[in-house]
Amino acid sequence: MIPFNKPFIIGKENQYITEAVNSGKISGDGTFTKKCHHFFEERYNFQKVLLTTSCTDALEMAAILCDISEGDEVIVPSYTFVSSANAFALRGAKIIFADSYEDNPNINADAIEELITPQTKVIVPVHYAGVACDMEKIMQLADKYGLYVVEDAAQAIDSYYTFSNGDRKPLGSIGHLSTFSFHETKNIISGEGGMLVINDPKFNTRAEIIREKGTNRSAFFRGEVNKYGWVDLGSSYLPSEIISAFLYGQLEHLEEIQKKRVSIWNNYYKRLKTLEDNNQIKLPLIPDYASNNGHMFYILCKSYDERCELIEFLKEKNIHAVFHYLSLNKSDYFLKNNLKIDLKNSDFFTDHLLRLPFYYEISEEEQTKIINRIKLFYDDRK
Ligand SMILES: *Cc1c(COP(=O)(O)O)cnc(C)c1O
Repeated sequence: MIPFNKPFIIGKENQYITEAVNSGKISGDGTFTKKCHHFFEERYNFQKVLLTTSCTDALEMAAILCDISEGDEVIVPSYTFVSSANAFALRGAKIIFADSYEDNPNINADAIEELITPQTKVIVPVHYAGVACDMEKIMQLADKYGLYVVEDAAQAIDSYYTFSNGDRKPLGSIGHLSTFSFHETKNIISGEGGMLVINDPKFNTRAEIIREKGTNRSAFFRGEVNKYGWVDLGSSYLPSEIISAFLYGQLEHLEEIQKKRVSIWNNYYKRLKTLEDNNQIKLPLIPDYASNNGHMFYILCKSYDERCELIEFLKEKNIHAVFHYLSLNKSDYFLKNNLKIDLKNSDFFTDHLLRLPFYYEISEEEQTKIINRIKLFYDDRK
């Protein structure tokens, strides 16, 4: 079987877990959590980083930090994971769904302004497949209307955006707040896991409090206050040292992981290009301002039916390829409280996009088997 995804161990993950356990402290914010924070702040120049138990939790923290309350509007792409919207809906926000580009699943930055109203508070760009949204345009809109930008960078570790003046910045460092995931399906993993990145220092103190159940325990541990108590809203968002230890074991090999993933991506691209040249499928588009972090490889089939047939054709040879999001504007939950809207590009990706097996340990032979099988499928359709 060639699975769609496969978690992997690359370095000292198990050793570090044992060290954490033997150290006598396995709750949050110990040595390994601090090492991870330091790693990200150094490597990507993030102003402040807080590990969380998931990207979903980091998004919930962002919604609290932005003071989302009943009636506020939050602009989210329709083609995304539920958490990008749900985290804000939990705080009472009205979710305003935006469409994708025609040729790229990311939020169409040129279609955002018409959705902004006096109630709008946040824009949530989601860097699909680790490919940057047009952050320059989005930050300009945020400035013009006084909005926050929360980057859902769940898939976007080690990916970059280049501004028109040539400045190149890591994704996650551009919005006011950003969120990452270390779920086992992402590039760098800890089973479940995530991180909040704070780029506007005004959020620093409150973020620590929200993450520690609404208490000022972090300041207490640093000796800044002599007792701690309930000072704000919050929840339990910090991961245990066991998770951080595993994550740190991966971070020590980040460059190796990224290099391998990008080469897997390039191999798919290079060898499937003939099908695109023959106008049989479409391959991912990476805009000039974006980099490629090798998170995911997808193809776009000509029709929904063709995609179903291809999935079956691959399954016959034990190759597991999968479609992705279902437009959130058509979800049961959204339609319970909202009128139906049509977002044709989001629907297009819902029906046509197919993700190919992609994991750190995938072999050249496995990739060849997948590529040849796809080519055979399309040979029959010439
Ligand atoms: C994976 C993912 C999430 C959720 O991440 P968790 O860590 O599983 O909560 C959110 N948004 C996007 C775009 C994702 O890909």
